[in-house]
Amino acid sequence: MEHNISEQIKFRRFKEIPAVIPPSKELIMIASLIDKMPEPNIEAHPEKLKQVLKTSREFLSKYLTLNPIPYVKEYKLFNVTKIEINGYIHPFNLPVKKVKNNDMFYGCSNEIIYFNTTDFLKYRWIELSSNLTEVSSLSYTHELTHTQLNHFEGIVNDYNNVEFLSIFLELVQALETKEDESLLILHDNLRLRELQSSIIELDKYATTYDDKIKEVLIEGTSYLHSTLKAYQLFFIYYYGNKETKYKIMHYIQEVFNHRLTVEGLLKKFNITFTNSQNKDDMNMYLKRRF
Ligand SMILES: [Zn+2]
Repeated sequence: MEHNISEQIKFRRFKEIPAVIPPSKELIMIASLIDKMPEPNIEAHPEKLKQVLKTSREFLSKYLTLNPIPYVKEYKLFNVTKIEINGYIHPFNLPVKKVKNNDMFYGCSNEIIYFNTTDFLKYRWIELSSNLTEVSSLSYTHELTHTQLNHFEGIVNDYNNVEFLSIFLELVQALETKEDESLLILHDNLRLRELQSSIIELDKYATTYDDKIKEVLIEGTSYLHSTLKAYQLFFIYYYGNKETKYKIMHYIQEVFNHRLTVEGLLKKFNITFTNSQNKDDMNMYLKRRF
């Protein structure tokens, strides 16, 4: 957990700090649907880093063209930080570090934020859990997606949407990597249980006056909004025909090329926070047969 989310949001050039609101009745019902979801009887296969990276890169390259990103590499000389490289690189060349973390679903892009410059954010490396499995590719894709958005002011306008495309592409990759949908089931078990706990946390604490708890809830709320919207778009993708799938990927490319905002993309598919809280849609998806 980063020290102060409200501050981070401002540094990251979002105009507003989103409000923390108690969950709707519909959301509580979604949480209970997830609660009844059976634990998958499959385990994530361990994987080598090389394979993890390859899977994500092949998946992304099949559908999208990633743009170069601002990159900075530093080193220390007599305790003084010096810059070794400062320029643009392809996101696939961004260093990947394994960190000790038992949560195989862990990923993080390490960024540096500058003040009063146009290039206000640069990437340093991507972190993945050292517990590498086939799920790690989904985390890598998640972080690579962030690199297409985080440094570009105004491409994501609402902080509540920052996780939306990262989670959506995780879903598509999980679906397309294994035909029997076993990876999708593993993914849903992780992602939807996280969604469930953020709903429960919000239900418990949304009306608190404790500022520290409020800070934690701001981040939880962003995951909540983004996850719901990502699943809503994924339902359109999952049940859609070839043309629909193509259209979705086309608009994501437009976002990556900074010609369309994330909010503009949501509008194209008529996705809002309100209409992504649909327990019938979630129920139909969870009970699907394939
Ligand atoms: Zn993320």
